[in-house]
Amino acid sequence: MEKIQMTTPLVEMDGDEMTRILWAMIKDKLILPFVDLKTEYYDLGLLNRNATKDQVTVDAANANKKYGVAVKCATITPNRQRMEEYPELTEMWKSPNGTIRAIMDGTVFRAPILIDSIHPVVKNWQEPITIARHAYGDAYRGGEMKPDAPGEAVLTFKGDDGNVETLSVQRVEGGAIWQGSHNKDKSIRSFARSCFQYALDTRQDLWFSTKDTISKVYDGRFKQIFEEEFEAYRAQFEALGITYFYTLIDDAVARVIRSKGGFIWACKNYDGDVMSDMVSTAFGSLAMMTSVLVSPDGNYEYEAAHGTVTRHYYKYLKGEETSTNPMATIFAWSGALRKRGEKDGLPALCAFGDKLEQACYDTLNAGYMTKDLTGLVDEGVSVTPVNSADFLDRIASRLQELL
Ligand code: NAP
Ligand code: MG
Repeated sequence: MEKIQMTTPLVEMDGDEMTRILWAMIKDKLILPFVDLKTEYYDLGLLNRNATKDQVTVDAANANKKYGVAVKCATITPNRQRMEEYPELTEMWKSPNGTIRAIMDGTVFRAPILIDSIHPVVKNWQEPITIARHAYGDAYRGGEMKPDAPGEAVLTFKGDDGNVETLSVQRVEGGAIWQGSHNKDKSIRSFARSCFQYALDTRQDLWFSTKDTISKVYDGRFKQIFEEEFEAYRAQFEALGITYFYTLIDDAVARVIRSKGGFIWACKNYDGDVMSDMVSTAFGSLAMMTSVLVSPDGNYEYEAAHGTVTRHYYKYLKGEETSTNPMATIFAWSGALRKRGEKDGLPALCAFGDKLEQACYDTLNAGYMTKDLTGLVDEGVSVTPVNSADFLDRIASRLQELL
């Protein structure tokens, strides 16, 4: 078979631990035999981030902006324990995902991979629900205090032009807790544009919810900016027959549970944090959750939603067999290759992305799966638990047939 050709390189961001092992296996077994793969490679493994003083992460994000499409392996975000584990670390480097998100100014969309034999806890969900979480501001960039005395809290804005605005928040008789939070028009606009763009790309309805009945100025501003930004997308939405729908967060929660799925739910930072965990758990497994960062100017970074699966890595290092699920990482590759194909007008590359996913579905539907999934399948379905390498081999042979 002649290999499928690429014209523009994919930005490849390698990572850490078990997912780094899977990364190489996925490339060797599922990509390189079929695609004349062109990538610009960035090693975001912790030791190389350390050696480059994290410049490699910045370079990778800039390459993503330059070329438009990246695929990223899970990476370690160092904490105190990691500083002890890797004594050569000169600094507790920041989360690479945070750094990349800040440079790309993007929104993260998370969607589950569904198979027939695993049913969501919510029995009427038939299609994936994609959560789009705004990842800037609100309580996550807030300031807090807890003075233990009677008094009054006043919110003051000091404009650079000398203009000052003040607002009495509350007068209290004793100890109280206070929180100040903000968001920026620019960030909310980017969020809105990323959501509208992603809805068009995936041909799904977009829902957006806040609590603007209570928070008339703050949440009201979110609602208003979404409405304004939607005007530039309205005609394209109508042409595709998809809708933009705003509702209150409590109404959205009720509707989501009653729905069949198959839409994007855009959430403010805190709502998205909480709701994405609820939705992903109800769909089944973190190992089956895909994630893509979409920038408002149409750049994409595909990854798995899970981490580096440290516990499995240490078993692997001891020479033990692991049954780590590579699905979300494979779908990062298939998504990135398909998007590269779309951007470059290469239908064969798009078709390869589709067929790679089909081969994964066929393998799972034939009952071959990693151990994290075997306990989730419906009663009566016969399954064969396999290790990561055997699972990838089965997908590869199915892919060969499909191609
Ligand atoms: P994790 O790597 O997602 O793993 C947590 C547990 O979930 C695993 O121990 C495993 O459970 C299960 N699991 C996750 N993915 C799986 C898969 N593909 N197949 C089978 N089981 C899977 O989270 P963590 O252990 O909290 O974090 C490990 C490292 O990843 C940390 O250093 C963190 O900074 C990093 N991280 C990176 C990203 C990212 O780059 N996007 C995201 C999150 C975390 P069992 O052990 O029960 O089998
Ligand atoms: Mg969370």
